Amino acid sequence: MRIFNTETKRKEEFVPLEPGKVRMYVCGPTVYNFIHIGNARPMIVFDTVRRYMEYRGYEVNYVSNFTDVDDKIIAKANEEGVSAQEISERYIAECKKDMAGMNVKPATTHPLATQEIDGMIDMIQTLIDKGYAYNVNGTVYFRTRKFKDYGKLSHKNLDDLRAGNRSLLVTGEDQKEDPLDFVLWKPKKEGEPSWQSPWSDGRPGWHIECSVMSKKYLGEQIDIHAGGEDLIFPHHENEIAQSECCNGKIFSKYWMHNAFLNIDNRKMSKSLGNFFTVREISEKYDLQVLRFFMLNAHYRSPLNFSAELMESSKNALERIRNAAANLKYTEEHAQAETMSEAEQQLAAGISEYRKKFEEAMDDDFNTADALAAIFELVKFANSNVNENSSRAFAKLLRDEILQLMDVMGLIAEPKEELLDADIEKLIEERQAARKAKNFARADEIRNELLEKGITLLDTREGVKWKRA
Ligand code: AMP
Ligand code: ZN
Repeated sequence: MRIFNTETKRKEEFVPLEPGKVRMYVCGPTVYNFIHIGNARPMIVFDTVRRYMEYRGYEVNYVSNFTDVDDKIIAKANEEGVSAQEISERYIAECKKDMAGMNVKPATTHPLATQEIDGMIDMIQTLIDKGYAYNVNGTVYFRTRKFKDYGKLSHKNLDDLRAGNRSLLVTGEDQKEDPLDFVLWKPKKEGEPSWQSPWSDGRPGWHIECSVMSKKYLGEQIDIHAGGEDLIFPHHENEIAQSECCNGKIFSKYWMHNAFLNIDNRKMSKSLGNFFTVREISEKYDLQVLRFFMLNAHYRSPLNFSAELMESSKNALERIRNAAANLKYTEEHAQAETMSEAEQQLAAGISEYRKKFEEAMDDDFNTADALAAIFELVKFANSNVNENSSRAFAKLLRDEILQLMDVMGLIAEPKEELLDADIEKLIEERQAARKAKNFARADEIRNELLEKGITLLDTREGVKWKRA
């Protein structure tokens, strides 16, 4: 398996720190609003990386944080006249609903910045003790120039950066020793959430949270650190500086970054106001369509959002689902159980598609080519399975499609959601069947509902039902 490492700018063979295990950290969203579909891109992409690693037999410890203390959260709380905690809790819950809708697996751990303040204070103190950080009037800064490797991820040269930041020297930030120094801890302003620390009542800078949470849940060294490409500098560069100076070890072996989701070729972002929330998209499309749309591009290529691409993703997904449904039908209605000789020969060729799928995914997670391999398999199934096919042959193909789709987090056989009205109608029909002593039909209806997660309770007041 080869991964493009932002740090070396090359595809490298993936060798985990510990055989069979992957430690992976993905920077999560700042929770002050519904997430937009730009934020959804890293969620979908790295969830797919995780799923593929698991398919390859790795045990993946996947950590993704929620940044629940931040200027934007505080601003939103003041706007609504509620606490910052109320805002962050609300949008974490909404974000988790969106993730479930996109079939993004919950992380092994989803730490919250506000629950990890003690760890942050410890790490900042260690950095001060080692001479990598200093306190000026309650603000603690990281002494960037002291870390010799600063710039190794973003390939930035310290002197160029310093020239570019000269303006900072005259903008009141001159309590810093150097314009490149960044904040680890800052004193509170009136009305802001704050925590006690040896330096001031205040709150942590943004970068320190990821260094601390990654260390706590994954250890001092991890295999993969990931996020959107806007995080390369300064966020990830600063995380490296903090973690490597504190722990004296290389922080992450591989750095992965997804390119932007654009709209009219500009980055979709809250500040530009050119965004769609995942929730808005879910009103128009099954979120599986959004997932398909994202995976149909390489994660390192910019992707332009458009209604046409969403429509074609919808059609493509439907084609795969139709094929799976046809195979299921054949499986249920086949006359022959076992494969004919001709089918056996065809079946021997099926592994080719899986091989193509794996080759694509092994090559830095080329999900677009992996989907193309699934399509070839679908085409093969459509042209080789008919009403004379055996159950075994249809099952083989259906299982294959379902499994490969599942690695991508795509659902080839969606569970049909029954509307309340449909359930009531079926219950009425069942009552009528019972009255007519057609118990076979009544049982059939009960089982049909059960399969869709609806349980019936016969009570004295009549039939009641509930969803699983
Ligand atoms: P934020 O809440 O802005 O910190 O973003 C959370 C994650 O979404 C980060 O990994 C960002 O890099 C990523 N992200 C934000 N906007 C986009 C976008 N338009 N395209 C791709 N990724 C994005
Ligand atoms: Zn981070």
